[in-house]
Amino acid sequence: MIHIPPKISCDTAPFWAACNERTLQLRQCEACGHIYWPAAPFCPACASANVKWQKLTGEGTVFSYVVFRQAFDARLQEAIPYVVAVIRLREGPKIVSNILCCPPEKIFIDMPVRVAWSEEGIQRVPQFVPCGTGAKA
Ligand SMILES: [Zn+2]
Repeated sequence: MIHIPPKISCDTAPFWAACNERTLQLRQCEACGHIYWPAAPFCPACASANVKWQKLTGEGTVFSYVVFRQAFDARLQEAIPYVVAVIRLREGPKIVSNILCCPPEKIFIDMPVRVAWSEEGIQRVPQFVPCGTGAKA
């Protein structure tokens, strides 16, 4: 799948650097334990600035998704149709990504997925593929 390179800020740079090492990590509050995305210097649950980067399993389930059948950006024309999904990670936070290696009509809510890493371009991007026995045949 062709993807548009992400915009990297000082808050998200550690996330993207970990992606290039095939590691999914998000910020975790050391005061209340909340794991969150997007990255911010303060915990959105308790406002503590005592936060760290936490490695995650890369496993989750489909919370919601949409199938794009029209390219709203010309760079994505050859990827049509493609799926943009909200993935609920095992550790709790949700992340927006793509689902690959699965026909759109086979995707369902709560489908188990795991992270897979794009190999295109200079920035690896976390995308998700079906896993486990929960995939519909
Ligand atoms: Zn907190």
